[in-house]
Amino acid sequence: MQRSEIIAPGTVWLVGAGPGDPDLLTRKAERLLAAADIVFHDALVGPGILSLVREDCERVSVGKRSGRHSKSQESINALLVAAARSGKRVVRLKGGDPSIFGRSAEEIDHCRQHGIAVHICPGITAASAGAASGLVSLTLRGQARKLVSVTAHSCGDDAAAEHDWAALMQGGTTLAIYMGRAAAGRIARELLASGCGADMPVMLVANASLPNERIIYGRLDALAFLVRTIGNDDPTVLLIGAAVARPRERSDKKERVQLSLE
Ligand code: SAH
Repeated sequence: MQRSEIIAPGTVWLVGAGPGDPDLLTRKAERLLAAADIVFHDALVGPGILSLVREDCERVSVGKRSGRHSKSQESINALLVAAARSGKRVVRLKGGDPSIFGRSAEEIDHCRQHGIAVHICPGITAASAGAASGLVSLTLRGQARKLVSVTAHSCGDDAAAEHDWAALMQGGTTLAIYMGRAAAGRIARELLASGCGADMPVMLVANASLPNERIIYGRLDALAFLVRTIGNDDPTVLLIGAAVARPRERSDKKERVQLSLE
């Protein structure tokens, strides 16, 4: 297929890079990367994925790492428009799925306001990748009918206070917390205060899908401690709720239930 059939010159594609493993890119993302003239990427997008661009493709890191923003959102918006206006095939590569805590709306609005055609290629979000690595299901019949993704970042000291945790957890929920490490202690306290059991399962997945992936299973009352065992720079998704119990405990439980039925 011709490059121009994949990305027309002068257009922008927001592309989900997934959690890090290049094999978790969509085929479409791979084709878009191979066709791009310029790629603006987040700091979280690693070399394995960036190696899929053409040799003469320009790569621009636009940073965005907690506490270290190398470019403001406004300047990223402006860069996308300027590159598209100069006739380039533009890929804006974002970790995970662009539509989940990816500030894609700002970029889309800005492009559209300037008459630039913009499209999205979805990606695998961190919660899905983490669940896959930990061999859990994010929803669980009878126990987790709801999946709620929240972020606890960039809200200052009140990060944990901005959600109605009791309402979020009501009726069986799996909570996926993005950018939640700094607020983990407060979130755990709020959840406990809102009636969640101290032994509610938690699963932390750092660097999901990457060679340095770490998975930690535990309980809610230990969340703050568990989070501190992960390196500051390691992107981590926190999964909380009955569905994310350690697989072995789940199967033990099932066996116990079966035994008690006999
Ligand atoms: N759009 C992304 C999320 C961006 S917010 C997505 O859909 O996944 C950045 C946060 O995502 C990180 O702070 C972390 O909580 C989570 N994250 C991203 N990549 C991750 C990975 N490989 N492993 C674990 N968590 C990850």
